[in-house]
Amino acid sequence: MTRDPIADLRRIAFLLERANEATYRVRAFRSAANKLAALPKTEVAERARAGKLTELSGVGDVTARCVAESLAGEEPVYLRRLLATEGSDLDAEATKLRTALRGDCHTHSDWSDGGSPIEEMALAAVELGHEYLVLTDHSPRLRVARGLTADRLRQQLDYVARLNEALPEGFRILTGIEVDILADGSLDQEEELLARLDVVVGSVHSGLNDDRARMTRRMLTAIANPHLDILGHCTGRMVSSRPAGVTGPGDRGHRARIRAESDFDADAVFAACVEHDTAVEINSRPERQDPPKRLIRRALEAGCRFAINTDAHAPGQLDWQRFGCERAARCGVPADRVVNTWTAEDLIAWTRR
Ligand SMILES: [Zn+2]
Ligand SMILES: [Zn+2]
Repeated sequence: MTRDPIADLRRIAFLLERANEATYRVRAFRSAANKLAALPKTEVAERARAGKLTELSGVGDVTARCVAESLAGEEPVYLRRLLATEGSDLDAEATKLRTALRGDCHTHSDWSDGGSPIEEMALAAVELGHEYLVLTDHSPRLRVARGLTADRLRQQLDYVARLNEALPEGFRILTGIEVDILADGSLDQEEELLARLDVVVGSVHSGLNDDRARMTRRMLTAIANPHLDILGHCTGRMVSSRPAGVTGPGDRGHRARIRAESDFDADAVFAACVEHDTAVEINSRPERQDPPKRLIRRALEAGCRFAINTDAHAPGQLDWQRFGCERAARCGVPADRVVNTWTAEDLIAWTRR
């Protein structure tokens, strides 16, 4: 069966637009469609075969891939994902995901740069109906965020063990860390501690402008580390927009500032996440919205697991999971790919794998 790649690109643009996606994304597909429509069909096919579509201005990796799939007679994966979520009630899908979540795997307390004591975070999580809260304060090198030294983390582990005895039945604080992925891809905490923790989230917080090859290597090294369970906010981007109803960042150090995505080979990174069974975080913070939806779709297609986390620095922010759920629902992420839909026991069994 033959398909018309230009019609497919226009269809994608239309669906993105209807779904109220960012204008630049819509424009990317539409301008690629126009560019290709102006060329002879045979040239488009030849370029697709030779992998030379992206040499045309206005044709990027994503659009080129769609064209190649279309010319091969397949429905482009990107289009298929959009069609799969089209017409479904996104609110209902997002609500279903949110309801399926049993906990949050990325949160901070006043031990690092959060604004509240651990017990307040825990009580808010109980109120939200969570079964667990993973406490992931920062690691030592992130001094601006008062990252925990090995000694302080040991103290925190003792403290959490005592707190857990006093918390309501059916709820517990799981131990964890948001560990910095250092320049060489190693993790910024003692091996023995990383092995002890229930959940290890690893994030890049420095050298965000590393060139593509270096950043990719760095992330691949971290993902191959058996202690890493979840790859936090993988692009490091900061967007300025906030959903209605969110009036401010609510915590110091997280003031919205615009920062471009880090550059890395997403296909290689997501393939490594599948290979090492590392979950990709969908970070719910309004100023992060990380990864962007096109990358969530790619990770989903690659076969990755996800964790829909708030990265809360204050109790009220624990309710931001719905933002992550909306983004996940738009990309068609099913609940069974999301590790924090699991019970604490299953989650720990997975991180100890
Ligand atoms: Zn972070
Ligand atoms: Zn964080």
